[in-house]
Amino acid sequence: MSIAEQLGSWTHTPLGDERGYIQPHSLKELWFHTGTKCNLECSFCLEGSSPSDKRLLTPKLEEVIPFIDEALSMGVEQFSFTGGEPFLAKDIVEILDYASKFKPCLVLTNGTEPLLKRLDALIALQSKNQHPVSFRISIDSPNEKEHDQGRGTGNFAKAFIGMRKLHQHGFSVSLARHIANNENQPEVDQQYRNLFSLNGIPPQTHIVAFPDFLPPGSLPSVPHITTHCMTAYQTEQQRENYMCASSKMIIKKGTEMQVYACTLVDDDPDYFMGNTLSESMQQKVNLKHHRCYSCFAHGASCSEM
Ligand code: SF4
Repeated sequence: MSIAEQLGSWTHTPLGDERGYIQPHSLKELWFHTGTKCNLECSFCLEGSSPSDKRLLTPKLEEVIPFIDEALSMGVEQFSFTGGEPFLAKDIVEILDYASKFKPCLVLTNGTEPLLKRLDALIALQSKNQHPVSFRISIDSPNEKEHDQGRGTGNFAKAFIGMRKLHQHGFSVSLARHIANNENQPEVDQQYRNLFSLNGIPPQTHIVAFPDFLPPGSLPSVPHITTHCMTAYQTEQQRENYMCASSKMIIKKGTEMQVYACTLVDDDPDYFMGNTLSESMQQKVNLKHHRCYSCFAHGASCSEM
């Protein structure tokens, strides 16, 4: 059987069943991908980011503004930014300045030098605009050695410096971590909370835990999700809670700005939903990507809303 036959099509599983899908109902959160350029190079990165990666490019302020404006006309409630490392994007502060005039913003960052270099500019934004900018810092493990094995020596300490400084300057912070195999979740979270206390960060700071999403283009064997799965094992409320039901992500590929179904599927062109948000909201999102199984089985979501 060829790889194409093993994977099935956009609409059908390899056994010929119709794929489960999500019909978007609203646009609550709009994500922007700031490009796959990152100051770090981690083997596990779901975006395949590195200092030289150009799979996704970095949008300029004038390329982002039309999507912010369109999203506002559709009732969006938050703008969120991910990368790569968003603080390597030349226009990121100007983009946050524009977006936070209208709605709260969230930025996902590794918390190291690129963030620290922009800290003064971010502090200046705080008193200027009506809506807050908050931050989610990636600290993969509460064990410094384990984090630095993945991200490079010294980056655990730097990320905590970044998180601490953001908190000291009045920004709201949260933390993204990995879920280890067979972990004791309350125990791991408590280890983070102890670290928060040591760093003067509120112990109840929100922690978002992610499974291993694997690098772009990975093809692990996961169960296929059919329309029957979506009605037999999921309620209407659960279907409404999928990220792709109420958010979209904007990416820049080549010279083109494109709307994708969510933050987790930009390595598969089937998830290109159009060049405008209104067009993209009409598209049914089929649950074909292997990461869709994490949403189906574990309720995985990048959103904090
Ligand atoms: S990864 Fe999750 S949110 Fe994204 S398209 Fe698949 S099911 Fe929807």
